[in-house]
Amino acid sequence: MKLTRQLQGLHARFLILVVATLVLMLAVVGVMLQRQSGVQQEMVGVSRASMRTLVSNRLRLHGEAAVVQLADALTNPLYYLDLDAIGAITRNASRQPDVAYVIVYDTRGDIIQEGSGAVAAYSESMHDPLAYEALQAPGLHVQWTDRVLDISNPIQVGDARLGGVRVGYSLASMRSDESRATQSLAARLREIGANDLLWVAALLAMLVALGGLASLVLQRALVRPIRQLAAVAHEFESGNYGAVVPESKRQDEIGELVRAFGRMGTSVARHDRDIRRMAYTDALTGLANRLAFRESLDQRLLQLRGVGRQLALLFADIDDFKRINDTLGHDVGDEVLLRFANRIRTAVERYGSNHALLARFGGDEFVILLEAGDGPGGDARTLASALAETLVEELARPILVQDRQVFLGTSIGITLFPDDATGSTMLMKNGDIAMYQAKVAGKSCYRFYSRAMDQAVERRVRMEQDLRGAWERGELSVAYQPILRLEDRKLVGAEALLRWQHPQQGLIAPSVFIDVAEQTGLIETIGPQVLSAACRDAMRWRNEFSKGEGLFVSVNVSPRQLRTGALPDQVASILRATGLAAPNLHLELTETAVIGDELLASTLLARLRATGVKVWLDDFGTGFSGLSHLRRVPIDGVKIDRSFVADVLRDPDDLALTTAIIAMAHSLGITVVAEGVEQEGQFNILRDRGCDLAQGFLMGKPLTMQEFTRLLA
Ligand code: C2E
Ligand code: MG
Ligand code: MG
Repeated sequence: MKLTRQLQGLHARFLILVVATLVLMLAVVGVMLQRQSGVQQEMVGVSRASMRTLVSNRLRLHGEAAVVQLADALTNPLYYLDLDAIGAITRNASRQPDVAYVIVYDTRGDIIQEGSGAVAAYSESMHDPLAYEALQAPGLHVQWTDRVLDISNPIQVGDARLGGVRVGYSLASMRSDESRATQSLAARLREIGANDLLWVAALLAMLVALGGLASLVLQRALVRPIRQLAAVAHEFESGNYGAVVPESKRQDEIGELVRAFGRMGTSVARHDRDIRRMAYTDALTGLANRLAFRESLDQRLLQLRGVGRQLALLFADIDDFKRINDTLGHDVGDEVLLRFANRIRTAVERYGSNHALLARFGGDEFVILLEAGDGPGGDARTLASALAETLVEELARPILVQDRQVFLGTSIGITLFPDDATGSTMLMKNGDIAMYQAKVAGKSCYRFYSRAMDQAVERRVRMEQDLRGAWERGELSVAYQPILRLEDRKLVGAEALLRWQHPQQGLIAPSVFIDVAEQTGLIETIGPQVLSAACRDAMRWRNEFSKGEGLFVSVNVSPRQLRTGALPDQVASILRATGLAAPNLHLELTETAVIGDELLASTLLARLRATGVKVWLDDFGTGFSGLSHLRRVPIDGVKIDRSFVADVLRDPDDLALTTAIIAMAHSLGITVVAEGVEQEGQFNILRDRGCDLAQGFLMGKPLTMQEFTRLLA
């Protein structure tokens, strides 16, 4: 794998190219050298041939001239047959260089004189192979053999032939001259060839050196930086964005590439950091988010396992925070959350060791992880209670937003490691359960997790199951609490209040189970059932008792029922079915159901009122609507919450507020009902301030249908 990669590398390819070029050049040089030696041989051959032709021609011309002269010189002595003169001339001629023989012969071809000196061959006829042609030739005649050039010429007087002369020239010296010349030529050529070879070798060596140099430059200038970049890219790929990109001061493209790569690396690392930060922090408060908290909790638990140290987890949830969003809008909600976060942070800094971790789990839930210190008071339980107490106190202080004082509480659940659980999932679940129990216990307080709470949660789940079908089984019933006119204490109506007679647990208060019905949506089936039962009962009062004539019944409606939008139609059909006159049915809606989206609420309320029923605002004063709100939603009455009524005698502020509500409501033509009247004094003061109606234990507790009919009778 690595090998193939290296073979495919830039450097390797370049080296292969260089080697291939060298091999090719060597081959070419080899062929050229071979060619050169061939050419040399050819050159030697050609020059030998031309030299031979040249020398042979010269020898022949010279020979021909010499033989003609010799024949001339021999004419007279042969005529007179002066053998001495012939001998002298012949000897003289044969002494000439390269002359092998001189033969003078008669017309028959018999030798008269032979130039070797002795007259031994006198009158013998010529036997050699060249003799015949020489004798027959009419004039100058030339014949060649390997070793000799034979030139003959007839000797004549006039037309009469006396004989002839033949001179043989030896070719040996010519041959040896020729071979000497060709040898020296070949040697010269070899010398030139060797020189050439040296040049070619030097050239090749230079080429090799050049190739090596180029390879070195390529390696340093191109391959190494690219390899380095590739290594860094690999690091990036495996998630290590901190890998250092090499610096480069080069001004060329590679330098530019390295610098661009470096910039890219920095920007990728920055993006990575940003993404991590975004993934691990809560955008609104800048605190750690659920993911970050979960991860560090897991890490902390892993470190602490078996060490014997304690951890405490605090789950803080703002009470009724939804109301803020609903009534004051999400911007205010965000601002409130920020203020809360800051208060929590300050408190945590005061109590938590430096290991404390604060996170927001989205919504209005904050979680704090505390680690018990080493010193005294290092007990996690003590530390957590102290912090929780401070938090409950601090967070109950009013917050000023948009010139309003907002009162909010916080419920806190606490769970301990390793006492309650050792795993993060269980710890978080426990914290949630404990927090929920703090809410059930009345909110704005804290609770430590206990195993009994699991049972409470179980009970809740079971309650939901039990509540299903409870109406059909006859476990649910409606109680009626009398409502009187303050002016003359006359009974004018009754509020329908749901009761649950559980087969095992006995009577369960609506404050316990309405919540469950509301959260599970069961209220959407139970609500209409209560409504039609109440209308039916009210019809019975009217029909059966003289005192019951004109009595209204007021039924509580959950926000969830209102929000479905089906309520106006339901009300109309129930009224039709029971025959109750619309003005005798009052619907009680809590402030939270009505406010928030004022436009939608107003439309829904208008549709409800169009059926003829009256709409009252229940628990008025506990929400955030304020008095001015009364102007904007179309309602018929308000029920002052019993917390105000309870203090109306002791607290001048509550009295002032109650008085203001009455005055404001009356100016808008709205009826005012006081609930929770338990004392004569409360009754009197409310009557004096002009309150219209009242209900409370003073006048009557919620009664069963039988009890109520007995009252009417
Ligand atoms: P609410 O509508 O404000 O009802 C008045 C509550 O105050 C009733 O509690 C009543 O028993 C209690 N109360 C009346 N006079 C006094 C008094 O003089 N002193 C004291 N301390 N309390 C008094 P209850 O019946 O437990 O109902 C609690 C809440 O449950 C109701 O508050 C209402 O919001 C809800 N609820 C009851 N029945 C229904 C129902 O059928 N549907 C819906 N959606 N909610 C219901
Ligand atoms: Mg009510
Ligand atoms: Mg009420």
